[in-house]
Amino acid sequence: MAAIVLKTLEEIELIRESALIVSKTLGVLASEIKPGVTTLALDQIAETHIRDLGAEPGFLGLYDFPNTLCMSPNAQVVHGIPNDVPLEEGDIISIDCGALKNGFYGDHAYTFAVGTLDPEVEKLLKVTKASLYEGIRTFKKGNRLGDLGFAIQDFCEKEGYGIVRELVGHGLGSVMHEGPEVPNYGRRGRGKQFVDGMVLAIEPMINQGTHRIKQLKDGWTILTADGKASAHFEHNVALIDGAPELLSSFQYIYQALGIQSDEEEAFRKEPLVL
Ligand code: MG
Ligand code: MG
Repeated sequence: MAAIVLKTLEEIELIRESALIVSKTLGVLASEIKPGVTTLALDQIAETHIRDLGAEPGFLGLYDFPNTLCMSPNAQVVHGIPNDVPLEEGDIISIDCGALKNGFYGDHAYTFAVGTLDPEVEKLLKVTKASLYEGIRTFKKGNRLGDLGFAIQDFCEKEGYGIVRELVGHGLGSVMHEGPEVPNYGRRGRGKQFVDGMVLAIEPMINQGTHRIKQLKDGWTILTADGKASAHFEHNVALIDGAPELLSSFQYIYQALGIQSDEEEAFRKEPLVL
């Protein structure tokens, strides 16, 4: 993984712009997700929307990835390739999206419900998303990467879930995957110390069962070894004046779905104008 690159406030604002393009794109997709829709159709909507906002899809062609979105339903963890298989009632679908504008990337993800979920799977989504905020809360002056990883791991393992080890969050900037690696597991007080100007993509990948994973022969798709469900939520966060500042937002998704949430308020200095 590339070096850690600290960002100026101006650069952080450019990353915020790209991150919010992703946020808006996920918001558009939120109202399209229903039984019968294919992930390829959603991918095309996303690509058009990103280009309409003056950005480039961040994943398309990156390491030769063939599409705009990573689409990972049910037992798929991440890096699933969009296809023409329709989503079904009760599915979950992790959508990971990137955008590049002004030379800086946004990169974040949300796991959506397709219709009504099995209560156990619904709980997996709820806990995984809450663990993301547990992680973000630790991204502050004086703490270390191990504190962040521990917070996510501890929160999810209490529920009996598996924490994926092989895939991690990362630094974000003019390169999609910069240093440091940001594991969703760790030991308190260990690892690199957080300093102002760091921008991280924090992204718990949490399995209902075993933490072990396997990869499909397509060379991309990661799925759980036991076939149980996996959830994935990701935000882009900058460290400013010793505190975490959210650059991305799920509020566009919530607006589309009619959900009220104040989960992001603690991590944003100024209210987001939708
Ligand atoms: Mg991502
Ligand atoms: Mg990422």
